[in-house]
Amino acid sequence: MKKIIIAIDGYSSTGKSTVAKQLADYLDYIYVDSGAMYRAVTLFALQNNYLSKDNFDKESLIKVLPEIQLDFKKENADSKANMFLNGVNVEKEIRTMYVSDFVSPIATLSEVRKKLVAIQHQMGIKKGIVMDGRDIGTVVFPKAELKIFMTADAEVRAMRRFNELKEKDETITYDEILKNVQKRDLMDTTREDSPLIIANDAIEIDNSETNEEDQFHIILQLAKDRVAGRI
Ligand code: C5P
Repeated sequence: MKKIIIAIDGYSSTGKSTVAKQLADYLDYIYVDSGAMYRAVTLFALQNNYLSKDNFDKESLIKVLPEIQLDFKKENADSKANMFLNGVNVEKEIRTMYVSDFVSPIATLSEVRKKLVAIQHQMGIKKGIVMDGRDIGTVVFPKAELKIFMTADAEVRAMRRFNELKEKDETITYDEILKNVQKRDLMDTTREDSPLIIANDAIEIDNSETNEEDQFHIILQLAKDRVAGRI
């Protein structure tokens, strides 16, 4: 059967990865979380003191970019792919608020984007891929057969993320998450290189009030139509 590329872009915490994973499982496609790659570079920058609250040594980080090796690997056949940074599984660390707070400045660096987009292109060569992020339909795969752009009210998104994170971290507050979501929205939409914008041929889905299951079926139908060449 014909394989396509599905690009899912949108604001933070709109459930992009949930629906992307569901689609990839159903269609037996590869799922790639491009945000995990930006998060891993951010963790590297934090661990090696190129980035902190008061300092961002962009030049030194750019120099050492070739030393950063990123891989998606499964721990076992059934598990979901985890992010490995220079051979170490960093899946947990990259999801913390500590990393979330610093990732958007890292994502403004063109040199970082160039490196990650090159890896992402390679992953899509054989199609049969669902990738989520901010620039997938506009920059990474401008010819993707199906492009979805997901939005939802910031308050709804912050509450979803709060419910997800509070089990792992009891100190986290809704207000701090809302601030992080709003800050990332602003940086992601206003940066010079590859800002978060809706592609001309993307289908916008506001899921403030749609449940996950309905949303999955809407997007799956669109994917099936594209595979069959109906649209
Ligand atoms: O998708 P996630 O929220 O994990 O992404 C973290 C951050 O990485 C985003 O807020 C954005 O700054 C950056 N990002 C990006 N381009 C992508 C994916 C993520 O700039 N394709």
